[in-house]
Amino acid sequence: MARGAAAAILVAAGRGIRAGPETPKQFRPLGGVPLLARAVAPFAACEEVAGLILVVPDPGEARRRLKPYLPAGCLPQFVPGGETRQASTAAGLAEAGEAGLILVHDGVRPFVTPDLIRRVLGEAAAAGAAVPLLPVRETLKRLAESGRVLETVERDRFALAQTPQGFRREVLEEALRRASSEGYVGTDEAELVERLGQPVARVEGLAGNLKITTPADFDLAEAMLEAESGRRGAGGVRVGIGYDIHPLVPGRRLILGGKEILHPAGLSGHSDGDLICHAAIDAILGAAGLPDIGRMFPDTDEAIRDASSLSLLAEAARRVRNSGFDLGNLDLVVLAEEPKLSPHLEEIRRNLAGALGCDSSRISVKGKRGEGLGFAGRREGMAVHAVALLVPRAEASAP
Ligand code: MG
Repeated sequence: MARGAAAAILVAAGRGIRAGPETPKQFRPLGGVPLLARAVAPFAACEEVAGLILVVPDPGEARRRLKPYLPAGCLPQFVPGGETRQASTAAGLAEAGEAGLILVHDGVRPFVTPDLIRRVLGEAAAAGAAVPLLPVRETLKRLAESGRVLETVERDRFALAQTPQGFRREVLEEALRRASSEGYVGTDEAELVERLGQPVARVEGLAGNLKITTPADFDLAEAMLEAESGRRGAGGVRVGIGYDIHPLVPGRRLILGGKEILHPAGLSGHSDGDLICHAAIDAILGAAGLPDIGRMFPDTDEAIRDASSLSLLAEAARRVRNSGFDLGNLDLVVLAEEPKLSPHLEEIRRNLAGALGCDSSRISVKGKRGEGLGFAGRREGMAVHAVALLVPRAEASAP
């Protein structure tokens, strides 16, 4: 990997089965995906991390177990671990090429986030070493060797250390070399840097960045995942419905799906009256669980008077993407007695696809006449029904 780039070493060399029988805990499924594969994904999503090194008990077996679950294009190196945590870290470091910044992460912390990874990298580059810390919230007791309570200590002077911990390469190398030559075994890498008397910068840790060690931790992690998928819908897939109706007014321009259609009457409304766009907006916002069109683009907002509804659709699509979704498909029914819509449907689909940032094959628009019945049949107005399916945004790709 390129000189100066960042590499992440995920230490998962334990054969520990404390979390349950048989499978070592780093390969045990959490929400159907091996723990270690979950821990890899946030690093793979950081373009700052150019290389990923997984230190495991058996590289061949680890590759076989993880491969189906790694993000597309993610090609980590698999390295056999050592007897101790720091021997495993050193084995990983030996494979880090010329990377100038090194992250070391517990392979059993699957809830690490790209944001935390970036903050650690930033502090490590500046200070030489950085560690995420959490305040101790509970009262802290000091115990005698027998387990008897001795005293209550001032918890403000203590913090809980997490990973990833970040280091300038030469700092980590020196810390490992010194510990090894002195036969010292630490519990994390930051401790070895502290022993050098070098500064370790503090990064705010993440309460959800759980280290999964025991069966109870697994249960808690499963519950956290379930809560997350509950927020995002079954399998992360979401459906939304939209509807809009506007009166027809003689002499007004008729705009449907961003296309102006020659017709003696157009749709009244605060904006351009483009109810295809309005129904589509409500369908995608609804699926994403975002506020509806009336709240997102209130008609009291002067900026929206005579706005192109197609541009509002593009803005709604941007917000939907930012909340973590891509459009699966959008299906629309336009209820209109006249004009005949079929000559315009292709262009309308293309317009909608352009605003939504997707291929037009994901969009379907159908015209339906009122057959003389109701407001549409009497040519008093038009209505549109829309259904949208959203899928979770694809995970970011290769490191
Ligand atoms: Mg409307």
